[in-house]
Amino acid sequence: MPTFVRTETCDGCDGRERIACVSICPHDLMALDLDGSATGWAKKAWNREPSQCWACYACVKACPQQAIEFRAAADAVPLGARVQPELGDAFIAWTIEFRNGDQNRFEYPVRTRPADSIEPYAGKAAAKLDRIGQPGFFDQDEPTNPGDPAELIHI
Ligand code: SF4
Ligand code: SF4
Repeated sequence: MPTFVRTETCDGCDGRERIACVSICPHDLMALDLDGSATGWAKKAWNREPSQCWACYACVKACPQQAIEFRAAADAVPLGARVQPELGDAFIAWTIEFRNGDQNRFEYPVRTRPADSIEPYAGKAAAKLDRIGQPGFFDQDEPTNPGDPAELIHI
């Protein structure tokens, strides 16, 4: 089921480094309607192709305003109920709102180290870019198992 934007809550990511929903959607569906010509809502985001939304929830989690809602399947989240994530630096909180107004909130850690503290190439040798088209590992002079080039798939 596709997402939709609550226009009263979306602030267009005004003043932020990037427009969170637009930059994270893997299907390039989210867009910002700068002048309102597409939706009638200026400076609000929208899902411009709901039928193509694969409901990955990435934009819902990334939105700093919790302005994107997700139409879940009715047997899991019936009309009137809501599931809303809120992503922090170290945790994600999920608020489950039932149709009778009851709420449950769950929090889960999303990282074990401070943000941006991981150095994925620490301790690794520099890449040998002249070997980029050859089999083997980037930091080795010779591949461990060069294989038979004739067996490689050529496109
Ligand atoms: S991430 Fe949220 S606040 Fe930012 S433009 Fe998208 S819907 Fe609006
Ligand atoms: S749920 Fe996923 S595919 Fe759908 S608009 Fe959001 S980020 Fe894009």
